[in-house]
Amino acid sequence: MDVLSKKEEKIFQNAVFFSKDNLGIEKDDSKCIDCGECQNTCNRLCQIKIKEHPENCLACGQCILTCPTNALKPKKARDKIIEAEKEGKTLICYTSPAIRVSFGEAFGQKPGTFTIEKLIGALKKIGFDYVLDTTFGADLTILEEAMELKERIKEEKNLPLMTSCCPAWVKYVCDQEPELISHLSTCKSPIGMQGEMVKKYFCEQMKIDKENTFTVAITPCTAKKMEIKEPQITGTDAVLTMTELVDWLKEEQISWDNCEEKTFDSLWKEGSGGGSLFGITGGVTSSLLRTYYFLETGQNKENISFDSLHDEDGFKTLEIEVNDRKINVAVVQKLAKIKPLLDEIRNKKSPYQVIEVMNCEGGCVGGGGQIKYEPTKKQEVIKLRKQGLKARDKEVAIRFAHQNPDIKKIYEDFLIVLNGEIAKKYLHRSYEKEN
Ligand code: SF4
Ligand code: SF4
Ligand code: SF4
Repeated sequence: MDVLSKKEEKIFQNAVFFSKDNLGIEKDDSKCIDCGECQNTCNRLCQIKIKEHPENCLACGQCILTCPTNALKPKKARDKIIEAEKEGKTLICYTSPAIRVSFGEAFGQKPGTFTIEKLIGALKKIGFDYVLDTTFGADLTILEEAMELKERIKEEKNLPLMTSCCPAWVKYVCDQEPELISHLSTCKSPIGMQGEMVKKYFCEQMKIDKENTFTVAITPCTAKKMEIKEPQITGTDAVLTMTELVDWLKEEQISWDNCEEKTFDSLWKEGSGGGSLFGITGGVTSSLLRTYYFLETGQNKENISFDSLHDEDGFKTLEIEVNDRKINVAVVQKLAKIKPLLDEIRNKKSPYQVIEVMNCEGGCVGGGGQIKYEPTKKQEVIKLRKQGLKARDKEVAIRFAHQNPDIKKIYEDFLIVLNGEIAKKYLHRSYEKEN
């Protein structure tokens, strides 16, 4: 720890210490009143002994949402994007499912209102050449992870499979529970997969010079800023959170009324309903089980009780039967609830084949890069955003990731087989203990 850090610790007794190299969060000391709310939030939700070990920070940004003075913010990405634009790079962005039910809130819309066309229009207006849908990456993740689950169940190896789409959770496992790393899915997150496929496939199909592109994920998530710095996550150049985007639009005086409605650029127009559910806790599992069921039986099952997974007490389980075999899943929506499940795995007594963990309250709809509310309103807002995504899943023509025609095409053209050599090279990863 350097001299400056020691000085900072002396002044702030209660605030979390954020080093300058924290990849997700930055702190403005001049605004900090040392109230300790950031530390309380972290202890309540993440339980990583942040006071003693600031290096354990998961960059999840939940403390941003409770800081009363806005001293905490997502680490800025805008300057890098503007710089890339000045250098004449082609700007390509992709939007996460969870922000399309919150973007309108910045312009007076009710939380949960589905606002994708205005969001695309706004992104075009500030200079993005191509706007794509990260639901494509989510659908790809579902297919690869469903096949991975099928193989693990067949070989009875590394079960339960633990989901890997939340970078805060992945860091938690690598730092705190390294002996359980083999249970993490080897799938990159939707953004990890999307970035790879934009640079390896989209650019080639669209005849864009990939060396002269700058790719940006528009997300509800500060931890994704950390994820894209990992050596194996190479396709995404920057992560811009919802709140950074809204500040940018307001500075450019872009309003709801002067923002045109636009649609996503081809090739990837729209993902499945299952892909949209990645924005809420339980959604990854719901989508995964839909496709896993199809891979095992060749049938689409509509009546699995997915809704029971979408409740909010932080921990839910579900049992489904697939070819006379019972598959048990657990969904955890706060890291504070995970310890007993990890102990069961350690003691070889876990009853589950799948465990989904999302760090933030409600999943990515409650991410640290989302628009902030008074604490008394937060739960209601998260509930409405969740309802918005669930309604979307029911409305869309394609509910199953494996039915998405764009996904079928990329396997025909490029990836060839699920979990095959090419897919493993670009869409999967390994992990190592980080501390
Ligand atoms: S919550 Fe905000 S104001 Fe309070 S101690 Fe933390 S950074 Fe400072
Ligand atoms: S970003 Fe998340 S892990 Fe880091 S201090 Fe804040 S709440 Fe804790
Ligand atoms: S739950 Fe979603 S928003 Fe929160 S840290 Fe994980 S990926 Fe990011």
